[in-house]
Amino acid sequence: MLEVKPGVWFIEGENGGRYPYAHSLYLRGAVNILIDTGAGSKLEALKEKTDKVLLTHYHRDHVTLNPIFSKPSFAIHKKDAPGVESIEGFYQLSGLDQVDIEAYWKMVRQSGFVNTKITNYLEDGDMIENGRITIKTLHLPGHTAGHCGFLIEEYELIFSADIDLTSFGPWYGNTTSDPDQFRESIRRLRSLNPKMLITGHSKPTSRKISEKLTAYESVLDQRDQKIVDELKIKPSTTAQLALRKIIYRRHNSQDALLFFEKSMIEKHIKSLINRGILEEAEGKYYVK
Ligand SMILES: [Zn+2]
Ligand SMILES: [Zn+2]
Repeated sequence: MLEVKPGVWFIEGENGGRYPYAHSLYLRGAVNILIDTGAGSKLEALKEKTDKVLLTHYHRDHVTLNPIFSKPSFAIHKKDAPGVESIEGFYQLSGLDQVDIEAYWKMVRQSGFVNTKITNYLEDGDMIENGRITIKTLHLPGHTAGHCGFLIEEYELIFSADIDLTSFGPWYGNTTSDPDQFRESIRRLRSLNPKMLITGHSKPTSRKISEKLTAYESVLDQRDQKIVDELKIKPSTTAQLALRKIIYRRHNSQDALLFFEKSMIEKHIKSLINRGILEEAEGKYYVK
């Protein structure tokens, strides 16, 4: 654990915080607060020393160790709560109830889904005190509908979860994900001008945060452009586009990544149609 500011501890996730792990934040005070439980076995040391768990969203890499915390209260945004309250809710929010992706289901089962009892719903602007610092909830939808970050006001430090600054770029493959909302959330984060940014999958940074967020946002434009370029060459269906590895550099056609690739391409196409750039005829998309 690394104390990045007095009372604020960064807990690096196993495997460098890469999926299926994620970084956590631990806020020590009169009330000890843990943000996300996906960091791996080092969280065992905190299970008796945590009073409250705040969850940024329902994804497995952020909630894996919820079951070891029997004492604390759990909070998450209402829109993401079903994804941790039951496995059926998880499938519904993720979109995986619509398809039979055995490999993915097996992975979810292997990671040991245990229902989490949510005691509080988080809303944008909620203030949480721990006797030492003040934490403001930021609803930052797009990645999921209920995705939240947290601003520690005293230090102008934001934990932005899966607005994660990775080179892959934004991820919005679930039913309730939305790339346009994701873009708005990145812009909101940038306008808050934090002095330190910590994400679920990248290390704390205090340098060039605004530029890093701009570069991260630009991945959305690059994907739009790639889709437009492909369709200029050959009008196609979303299923055809999904095989061209526009978003994931690697996916073999059988696995869950293809499902997410197609889901994300569909969302781009919807947005490009709304912006008057594409049109559809007989299931294929054309550049206007
Ligand atoms: Zn996520
Ligand atoms: Zn994540």
